[in-house]
This record gives sequence, C-alpha cells and structure tokens, in this order.
Amino acid sequence: MKNRYEKLQTIQTPAFILDKSRLEKNLDNMICSFEKHWKNIIIGYSYKTNSLPWLLKYMQSKGIYAEVVSPDEYALAKEIGYEDDKIILNGPYKSQESIKSVLLNGGILNIDAIEEAKYVVELSKEFNNLKVGVRINFDLEKYAPSETLMGKESGRFGFNIENGSFEDVLQLLKNNGVDIVGLHSHVSTKTKSLNVFRESAKMISKLIKKYNLNLDYIDIGGGFFGDKPTNAPTYEEYILAIKNELKEIDDSKTALIFEPGVALAASAFQYICKVFDEKIHKDFNIILTDGSIMQIDAQMNNRKFPYNVISKDKGSTSDLKQIVSGFTCMEKDRFIYIDKNAQKLKKDDYIELLFTGAYTLNFTPLFIQFLPNVYVYENDKYYLVRKKWGAKEYMINNSTELELK
Ligand SMILES: *Cc1c(COP(=O)(O)O)cnc(C)c1O
Repeated sequence: MKNRYEKLQTIQTPAFILDKSRLEKNLDNMICSFEKHWKNIIIGYSYKTNSLPWLLKYMQSKGIYAEVVSPDEYALAKEIGYEDDKIILNGPYKSQESIKSVLLNGGILNIDAIEEAKYVVELSKEFNNLKVGVRINFDLEKYAPSETLMGKESGRFGFNIENGSFEDVLQLLKNNGVDIVGLHSHVSTKTKSLNVFRESAKMISKLIKKYNLNLDYIDIGGGFFGDKPTNAPTYEEYILAIKNELKEIDDSKTALIFEPGVALAASAFQYICKVFDEKIHKDFNIILTDGSIMQIDAQMNNRKFPYNVISKDKGSTSDLKQIVSGFTCMEKDRFIYIDKNAQKLKKDDYIELLFTGAYTLNFTPLFIQFLPNVYVYENDKYYLVRKKWGAKEYMINNSTELELK
C-alpha cells in the first residue's frame, strides 16, 4: 500500500481535488433530510458556486436541476446535456432566448426585474399558459438584525414588497394571463441561520394568503451550511424551520425548491500545493510554494482554510514563525501563518487546504500562472478532470493580428 505522500506524487501540483465520496455524502444527506419532511422536493445546484463540468455532470446524473444565473451559465447547462425542464433560470441578467426557451419547455423561470416581466407579457400574446415565478425582496434586516450582507442598504434582487413593486408586477402578469406559479427568495446572509429561512418562509406564506396564490413551487434559495465542523444547523433543522411557517401548504402539490451551492461543494474539495524552497527574512521563515492565494481566495477576504501538511518524513520543529507564500509576485500572496514550534516545512512537502470548493475555482484569475489541474479522487485514485491551462489554452479566442471579421 502506498502512503498518502506517495500517492500525492502521482498528481501535478498545484491542484484542486474533488473527493467524490464526500460530495456523494453531502448530497445524499441533504436529499434524505429534506425528503423526510416534504413530499415534493426539487434541488437545483447553484452553478456559480463551482461550475466544474465534471461536477455539473455528476449533479445531472443524480437528478439535480441546474440553477443558472446568466446566459453563459445557461449555455453551460445545455452543454452538459440539460433540457430546459430541469433548468432553474435565476438572477438579474438573463437573455431573452433563455427566458423564452425555459418558459416554453417547462423549465423554472424566476423573474427578477420589470423588463423580464414585460418580455414575458409580450410572449404571452403569442403563447398561452405561461408560468413564472417571482423573486421577492423585502426588508429582511428588520426581521433578522445584523444577519444580512447589505444591512440597512438592503438586498438588490427581486421585487420589493414594502414599496409596492411586487404587487405591481403581480398585477401586470395577472392582467395579461400569465400564471404566477412560484415565489423565490434567496438571500445572502452572514449567519446562514434558521431565523433567516424562517423569516423568508413566513413572508412567502403571508404573500400566498394576501394574494390568494396557488403555487406549483416555493423556492427557498441557497445559503445553507454544509458539513461544517461547527454547531451549524442541520438540513433537518432547516427544513423543519421552513415547514413550520408553511403549515397551510400541501406538500404533495407545491414543491419546495432548494438551491444549494456551498453546502454541497465546499467540503468536497481540497487544494494541494507543494513547497519548493524557503528563506529566512527577519525572524520568520518564508515557505515558497507552487500554490497561490489567488487560486483559493482571489478576493482576499482573508479566508482561513483548515490545512494538513503531508511530508515524506516528519522532520524537525521550527523555532521561527513560518509564512506560507504563493507563486505570484504579489507581496500579499501569503495564505498560512504558522506559529513557532510547529513542524518545520521543507522542500517537497505537500500542503493540503480543506473546504476549498466554494467560490474558489470560478474566482481563480488568469494571473501569472493559468488555471490549475483539477482531479477527482475516488477509490484511492486521482482522475484528472480538468487539465491545467497553459499558454495554448490562454491564447484560445485571441488574435495577435488585426483582422476585420
Ligand atoms: C448564489 C446563489 C445560490 C447558492 O448560494 P450558496 O450560498 O452557494 O448556497 C442559490 N440561489 C441563487 C439565486 C444564488 O444567487
């Protein structure tokens, strides 16, 4: 049996590694918990969180819908092999072609702003029985103080309830014979708390009663914790909190839609880089690696990932602080700070950062080095599912000549 170090020598670093069994566990656990408490469940995987094609295809094979928020993501879902009836089209930026295609082929469209509603109305002159969902916007900060991302400034998506925009769009759609079959609420919060989902569900319930809506679905969005090593809410606690606000809804008739990204992807990925040199500056040891902060935290949010060091042999203890740094020429490319008296990192050691599956691969810029390898790990083997981008891939769709086309 090869040990971990020997196995890692079969891959080319830096690399993201998708642990298939972890992904499977995340998804099965979610489906199982949700289905226990609601008959009609739909899960749409949020493409933007991590749109590695292998992952998207895996989701499709599990019956998961594609939750897309742009023309390019919509095209990507098609490329993966999705039909419109398994696509959830969300977000502020949609092409008319994608709106039309999803509407006419039984997909889910959640409209976000007025021009989309007007376009649907225009389509309704030609096509009968169009069904849409409407994304709601309300002052969640009032009900969940300090929990939302934008605080008093308020969220920017959907139709605002307090100022009447929501009612206006309902009227516009109804007057033109467009069916409102869904309400959508996705909110970005700092806390991902039960309270946030409770308040969303409560608001949806209120709107259903007030406007006498007969819904095919309630879309509660994403933003759940996954299997974090904290005392975060479980999937069962989430759905029970939501269900408790929707007592009057028939769960065999109205589907509950979830749009997880982070919860499924984050813990399934590791990022592996390798030490190639070191140097002492002042009173700390700078560890040079082939990884970079740009590949795991490009927005420099100071994200702290748990990590492991995998060495050929144990080695000594460092009496200096160690700073793990990256391949770029940016001073700030430092992503692990280690106190003194820890294991001394040395050439050819691997550093594995955990929980690197959410908002990392898709945020990785083409800066200095191009996109890294991605492997899927299954049954003790590493399968290359995205080969590193080199200069050739970087040049694709470029022209070094001026030609009129
Ligand atoms: C980003 C997003 C999601 C997924 O959010 P996570 O935090 O990754 O779970 C779901 N729905 C919509 C509309 C989104 O914009």
